[in-house]
Amino acid sequence: MDGTSFILGVDLDGVVGDFYGAMRNIAAEWLSRSAEELTPEVSFGFEEWGIAEYGGYDRLHRFAVTQRNLFRDMPPIKNAPAILRKLSNRGIRIRIITHRLFLKYSHRASITQTVDWLDSYDIPYWDICFMNDKGAVGAHVYIDDAPANIIQLRDQGYKTIVFTNSTNRGLPGPRADSWLEAEQLVMEAREEWRTGTQGLFERVAPLPKN
Ligand SMILES: [Mg+2]
Repeated sequence: MDGTSFILGVDLDGVVGDFYGAMRNIAAEWLSRSAEELTPEVSFGFEEWGIAEYGGYDRLHRFAVTQRNLFRDMPPIKNAPAILRKLSNRGIRIRIITHRLFLKYSHRASITQTVDWLDSYDIPYWDICFMNDKGAVGAHVYIDDAPANIIQLRDQGYKTIVFTNSTNRGLPGPRADSWLEAEQLVMEAREEWRTGTQGLFERVAPLPKN
């Protein structure tokens, strides 16, 4: 078996990096409020924080990246760097797939901060893809937190692990509440791939293709 050929497609924000925690602190400054006033139980887009009347999500995001170095300074999710090192060391090919370039005119900052951040936490990866259509990249199992991505990947027939946060509570599993659980699920997915069996991921049936 080619030990490097099992590919784990890894989302960054909300999965490897504590995007929601970092954005809560930055949004508090931007809104002239304390972080404690901003609920951590957010949905995708932070509408709970009332940012719309201050210019909305895109404006906050641009401030966070270009003025507060969001992608360079956000803390990692607990255990994520170490477990990605373990998985890589077991021959799993880490393919980072992120949609961090969705805003125009801040691509240099987004890319350089991301690469510096990955290096600074010694997060291993073979490939890094900045794109929205994650299914087009290809991976044997994905881990993501954004409901739209998870639904789309599963609709395309890709095994996808939900990484739990407040944005995705309603989605069915397989689900990891921590990177220790993610590690187990990734190893299970590789075993299913290696043996050609269906098990844990079978219950996430892809929708029929027309
Ligand atoms: Mg994400």
